[in-house]
Amino acid sequence: MDGRDKGRPDRLDWPPGSHRNGMSRPHRVHVKSFGCQMNVYDSHRMADTLAPAGYRETAEAADADLVILNTCHIREKAAEKVYSEIGRIRVLKEEAAAQGRRMVIAVAGCVAQAEGEEIIRRAGAVDLVVGSQNYHRLPGLLARVHAGEQIVDTEFPVDDKFDALAAPRPEAIASRGISAFVTVQEGCDKFCTFCVVPYTRGAEVSRPVEKIAAEVERLAEANVREVTLIGQNVNAYHGLGADGRPATLGKLLHRLAKVPGIVRLRYMTSHPRDMDDDLIAAHGDLPALMPYVHLPVQSGSDRILAAMNRRHTRQDYLDVIARLRATRADLAFTSDFIVGFPGESEDDFRATLTLVEEVGFATAYSFTYSPRPGTPAADMEDQVPDEEKSDRLQRLQAVITRQWRAFNGQFAGRTVEVLLEKPGKLPGQLVGRTPYLQAVQVMAPRLLIGSVVPVTITEIGTNTLFGALAEQPSTRELTAAGA
Ligand code: SF4
Repeated sequence: MDGRDKGRPDRLDWPPGSHRNGMSRPHRVHVKSFGCQMNVYDSHRMADTLAPAGYRETAEAADADLVILNTCHIREKAAEKVYSEIGRIRVLKEEAAAQGRRMVIAVAGCVAQAEGEEIIRRAGAVDLVVGSQNYHRLPGLLARVHAGEQIVDTEFPVDDKFDALAAPRPEAIASRGISAFVTVQEGCDKFCTFCVVPYTRGAEVSRPVEKIAAEVERLAEANVREVTLIGQNVNAYHGLGADGRPATLGKLLHRLAKVPGIVRLRYMTSHPRDMDDDLIAAHGDLPALMPYVHLPVQSGSDRILAAMNRRHTRQDYLDVIARLRATRADLAFTSDFIVGFPGESEDDFRATLTLVEEVGFATAYSFTYSPRPGTPAADMEDQVPDEEKSDRLQRLQAVITRQWRAFNGQFAGRTVEVLLEKPGKLPGQLVGRTPYLQAVQVMAPRLLIGSVVPVTITEIGTNTLFGALAEQPSTRELTAAGA
């Protein structure tokens, strides 16, 4: 028996539900998501696609007949982390085999796409490697795995994965809460020199407007109230509109704002270059479009922006921010920063600090640069020493933290619209979110989950705001909320 056969019992139980002793039970799938919301969305779609094939979701990997690791390639040493996770699951697979139960291990997502065959070579316990464009093929691929094959499927197919993936199931939507993510666009054509996405997710592909609208209608019918449209480069969206012509993200948002029951819309992640007139105008036209925009800039230095191949200057970025603010005064911004990109001087870094001061962010995510194998920046000379990077990161984060505190602090005593999402930890408490995604804890009747209510902020905590209902709901409102 070689490494590949370890933990593989002789008898297979396929299709799911045809248990060998004649007793039928559903197969259980455990999907572990790493990385961004797009992976979380893909994980949900995988579970939805496997449900008609007899799979039920389980939160415990040890109970599962199929474990899918939906991987992310963005962070440092991503592949190594996946191999160590596979090692952990392999132990569970061997324990299952000792009990006469077969556990299939599948690796999906960006590491699967990037590593391909290498995963099977290094980790023989893996049965299936499936790239991010091929999840709709899972039932067929699993049938082949159960027939004895070990498969790597990382092609970028011509068929539309979204057309072939199962629609979200009402019972699954309900269990996922009142806020949902919907992928509207995948892939990226920008080729920033530090980023693996164009290689792992391929070229930009957008879903047609009406197919997205149908999915959002389905979510709304299952009591979803807030939808975040996601894509690696979401504002490059150019899906086919009902008129047969490509539609912008702004037009898509206009269409979705008409879906009954959807009270909040958001989108991420955007590129400054693709912030077009339609999208900027949508912020002025659509009350449902939340005034909170994540707009990564990465650096405040034109020299570094050029080396990153960002295709915009510092001034371009500031101009976009100014146009958005002119459209809607209460907009707040978040961003991403990479410090210590190859060749970044102290002056370049100071340009980043002054940009942060100039814009004033609600919050921002900042990281030190670390090379991703296969990207142009990984081979650039003039890499910045680690101590220098760490020192700059600390200085940048001090400014961002000060801005974040100031942003939150201004809400003390104010009344804000809060979408109530779920019960809190205390009896009678609910947790919701402001338009700026701040968590708010408030005492309120459970029937109000899914409603937007005015809440007066009474206290600013570290990670949450505390408040009180500004108006007590009438019996009629409570009845309507519960209806
Ligand atoms: S725009 Fe975003 S996803 Fe595309 S290459 Fe640049 S960082 Fe990566």
